[in-house]
Amino acid sequence: MEMKKVILSEDEIPRKWYNILADIKMNPPLGPDGNPIGPEALAPVFPMNLIEQEVSSERWIDIPEEVLRVLSIWRPSPLVRAFALEKALDTPARIYYKNESVSPPGSHKPNTAVPQAYYNKVFGIERITTETGAGQWGSALAFACSQFGLECKVFMVRVSFDQKPYRKSMMEAWGGKCVPSPSMETKAGRDILEKDPDTPGSLGIAISEAIEAAVSDETGKTRYSLGSVLNHVMLHQTIIGLEAKKQLEKIGEYPDIIIGCAGGGSNFAGLAFPFVYDKINGKEIDIYPVEPVACPTMTMAPFVYDHGDTAKYTPLLPMYSLGHAFVPPPFHAGGLRYHGMAPTVSQLITEGILEPKGVTQLAAFEAGVTFTRTEGIIPAPETNHALATVFDEARKAKEEGKEKVILFNFSGHGLIDLAAYDNYFSGGLKNYVLTQEEMLNSEKVFKDHPKPQLLKSR
Ligand SMILES: *Cc1c(COP(=O)(O)O)cnc(C)c1O
Repeated sequence: MEMKKVILSEDEIPRKWYNILADIKMNPPLGPDGNPIGPEALAPVFPMNLIEQEVSSERWIDIPEEVLRVLSIWRPSPLVRAFALEKALDTPARIYYKNESVSPPGSHKPNTAVPQAYYNKVFGIERITTETGAGQWGSALAFACSQFGLECKVFMVRVSFDQKPYRKSMMEAWGGKCVPSPSMETKAGRDILEKDPDTPGSLGIAISEAIEAAVSDETGKTRYSLGSVLNHVMLHQTIIGLEAKKQLEKIGEYPDIIIGCAGGGSNFAGLAFPFVYDKINGKEIDIYPVEPVACPTMTMAPFVYDHGDTAKYTPLLPMYSLGHAFVPPPFHAGGLRYHGMAPTVSQLITEGILEPKGVTQLAAFEAGVTFTRTEGIIPAPETNHALATVFDEARKAKEEGKEKVILFNFSGHGLIDLAAYDNYFSGGLKNYVLTQEEMLNSEKVFKDHPKPQLLKSR
C-alpha cells in the first residue's frame, strides 16, 4: 500500500526558522513624516526582542528550546497525500497537504502565537492585547499566553463575535478575555461607534483598538501582538514549509505547484517561503496565494504605502492594499477579510515570483465539501479558498495529461465554522464582487501617501 502520511519524529522538528529578508529587497516602513522608521519607533507596541526579529536579515534564526517544547504538543504536523480527492477529481496530479489543523486551536496560528508569547514573557511583559477576525488568532494567542502564564485581551470583529460565539468560549477556556470591536473601551472604538453604531467592525478597526489598549497602559507591562502580515510572523510560520520540505524529500517528491489561502499572508508564506528560496535560486515552481474575490487585495488593489489599521496607528507599510478604511462585505471567511497583504508577500508578487489568484465564496465551499466527503476533514472557510485553486490546478493537470505534484496548506479545520456550512447547505451563501466604484472609493485614503519603489531581488 502506498503511504498516506509522512510523519517526522519529534527530533526532526526544524531548529531554525527561515528568514526571507536575507534573500529579497524591501521598501522600508515609513513614519508619519514620510521618513523610514527605526526599530525604536516600535518599542511601545512590541517587545524589543521581537522587533529585532522583525528587522533582522539573518537567513536562519534559532528557535528557542522553550518554544520547541510547546510546539511539540502537535508538531511536526503530518504531510498527507490526498488519494481520495485525486480519485474524485480523476486527476493525474499528486496532491499533498500539510495538515495545520492538528494544533490545539485548530489552525496554523499558534506557530507564531507561541514564540510571540515566549518573547514577550522573556522581555518582562505581563499582558498581551490583540485583535481577531473570525477568532482563530484570538484563540491561538489565548492558548499561547496560557502556556507562558500571560494575560490575554482580544478585540474581536463584531460580525464574527456575533456569528461565532464558540471562539469566544475557546479564548475563555484558555483564560483570555474577549470583547466585540468596535468597543467603548478605546478612543478608536468610540469614534467609530459614534459615526456608525451598526458597523460590523473590521480587522483594521480592531487592530487600532488593540494597539491603543497596549500603548495606553501606564504600567508599561502590556504589549500588542499581530497574528499575520509582519515579517516576524512570516518567519515563525516557515516551520510549516521547512517540515514539508523534509517530508517530501523522504518520499522523493518535490512540488511543481504550491498553494495557500492568504488573508494577511502568514500560512501561505509559512508553507511557501522555504520553496521561494529555491525559486529565487533557479527552481521552477508555480506558487499561488489565493484570496476571495470579495476582498481582492492582491488581484485588484494597487501596491502602495498604507497603514495596517483604520486609525492609522501603524507605520506606512509597502503592500497591496484596498485602503485602511476598507470594510469588506460580510462573507464567511473572517481570516481573509484584511485590507492589506504582508509586505514580504506583496514584494514577491511585484517581482512575479508569486502569482495571486481570486476565487468566489461558492467555489470555495463547493471544493471544501468535496474535500470533506473524500479526505474526511471539514476545512475552515479560509482553507476552502486554497482548495478551490487546488481543484483548478488538478483539473488543468488532467486536461494537459501531466503528473504535477501539488502541495497546499490545510491551514485549519472548520469545526467552529459550521454556521457557514449551514448557510451554504441551505442556499443562503452568495457571491460578493466589489464594484470598480467601491474599489476607487476605498483607495482614496492613500492617494497622498509616498509611493514604494519597484525593487528587483533577483
Ligand atoms: C487566520 C487564518 C487564515 C488567514 O490568515 P493568514 O495570515 O493569511 O494565514 C487562513 N486560514 C485559517 C484557518 C486561519 O485561521
